[in-house]
Amino acid sequence: MVNKDFYRTMPKIDLHRHLEGSIRLSTLSEIASQQLPELVPDLVKRVKILADDPRTSGNFLSKFLTLRKFFISKEIIQRMVSECLEDAAADHLIYLELRFSANALSQGNPQKLEQVMSWVVESALLASQQFSLPISLLLLLNRHEALDFAARMVDCAVQFQSYGLLGLDLAGDEAQFSGLPFRQLLNKARNKGFLLTIHAGEWGGAENVAEAINILGANRIGHGVRIMEDDNVVELARKTQIPIEICLTSNIKSGIFDDIHQHPLPEMLRMGLNITINSDDPQILNINLSDELLLLNKVFDLSSEQISKLMGNAIDSSFLDPEKKAQLHENYSHKYQSWNSQS
Ligand SMILES: [Zn+2]
Repeated sequence: MVNKDFYRTMPKIDLHRHLEGSIRLSTLSEIASQQLPELVPDLVKRVKILADDPRTSGNFLSKFLTLRKFFISKEIIQRMVSECLEDAAADHLIYLELRFSANALSQGNPQKLEQVMSWVVESALLASQQFSLPISLLLLLNRHEALDFAARMVDCAVQFQSYGLLGLDLAGDEAQFSGLPFRQLLNKARNKGFLLTIHAGEWGGAENVAEAINILGANRIGHGVRIMEDDNVVELARKTQIPIEICLTSNIKSGIFDDIHQHPLPEMLRMGLNITINSDDPQILNINLSDELLLLNKVFDLSSEQISKLMGNAIDSSFLDPEKKAQLHENYSHKYQSWNSQS
């Protein structure tokens, strides 16, 4: 029978997952009771989207403001990274691209940026070995945060490139903040060898996706669901085959669509867009990637073969070099065949 357990053991790839949205409630609860007692009341409501929460971007972003208060020591940050990888491995991910905000983790302190990045990189390398989960890291820059701080983060990130920090993510409040001020910085980062994904067409319109592709040089688009509002942008995405990182539950809980049946995924697939399926913020949303695959099957009637094809898209769309992509394809296909023969 097809249920959540069915997809839990299927090998999976996630290209769009935020570290700060992946922290276990039990860990937050433990830290709060020991070090942040003022956050103990209403902790769950502060860090998760609950059924009676307003479905808005503001509500979604407010969870990150609370989470930011928890990044108070090296031990805590390293534990969060390690547990995030442990949870991903338990959900049978075989490759993860994990994005993190060095601004949030340093609590906005420029003096701590280098330190914080080294903690994340070190603990990710360690946990990657411990849980046999290959991982790459992406540094997140928020549109609504200061450009000079972002420039500082990019300068700092260069030294971690050979340790798996492969790309940048331009995220944040796209409804109110243009990505254009970041154009020069993103160009500079690209020249240094970083690849780029941009949150666009989520809380802002299709024009933000066009801007991300044509002007900001995105290699992938985070969400991108609102391109369906403009045929020209759909055609641009189809022609360029830019990978689109779809996060189904996230789009519902942040209020882009009222319910899952209104999600344009089937239409996006029919139009020949390059689709990948991702989790976004598993702990805030109370999901893991298996839940999202179950939605693909239950709501959109996708077969295991069709879902497997989307996993293949994710491998091709990853920021890995061609040799590592080929290895990942091989590993995936071996694991998928074995899963498929048992399921
Ligand atoms: Zn995201």
